[in-house]
Amino acid sequence: MRSRTANRSGVVIRRRVLPAGDIIVTLLTPQGKLKAIARGGVRGPLSSRLNLFHHVGVQVYQTPQSDLATVKQAVLEGALPRLAEPERYAFAHLMAEFADALFQEGEFSEQAFDLFAGALRGVAFQPDPEWVALVMSYKLLGLAGIVPQTARCARCGEDHPAHPDPLGGQLLCGTCAALPPYPPEALDFLRQAVRRSVRVSMDRPVPPDQRPALWRALERFVTVQVGGVQSWRQLVPAEGVAASA
Ligand SMILES: [Zn+2]
Repeated sequence: MRSRTANRSGVVIRRRVLPAGDIIVTLLTPQGKLKAIARGGVRGPLSSRLNLFHHVGVQVYQTPQSDLATVKQAVLEGALPRLAEPERYAFAHLMAEFADALFQEGEFSEQAFDLFAGALRGVAFQPDPEWVALVMSYKLLGLAGIVPQTARCARCGEDHPAHPDPLGGQLLCGTCAALPPYPPEALDFLRQAVRRSVRVSMDRPVPPDQRPALWRALERFVTVQVGGVQSWRQLVPAEGVAASA
């Protein structure tokens, strides 16, 4: 009977408490995604350490009988208390769901970890957390190799499409589209967001009234390409909310 212990450091992107008091956590680490169980954790000191968005160092123990590693110890390495602010929390939660959907367990990605950790810091400290979340979502998509087609109409292949694609979240030409074209700022973002550096995108925020359409496109695209992101519906700002802001 062989078992092994490993030390990992990462950010808690999902946390679920089971009826028996065990906590199942998913961490995004520079070595990939790690899912582990803290047995009885809800009654001990691990509970507050293994909170969502905490950066923790964990010692995990893997036995051949279980596909889920067991958390033996956890040390808090960093936290971003400002993420508790409601307008920031929603976007941090969305980024966490997004990273969980995009990256697979065991898939090595130091870049994904760095980008995600940077996204959380941006959501915590930048004055416009929604913009950080939009920019970083597209950058994470690019890193995962799942990139929306923007050079050609998603339906007929025509060049320079500029209209929303309500089914696939990509772009349609004027002939295939039923909706009016994107405004120039939103279109520029959709065409460039994956390739452009985070810094450049952060300096060119799309006006807030154009963002609900960008969220909708992203949600459609991710749903079609990756599968649903669980908490997306509650988290993505509703059009009415943004329009009245
Ligand atoms: Zn077309």
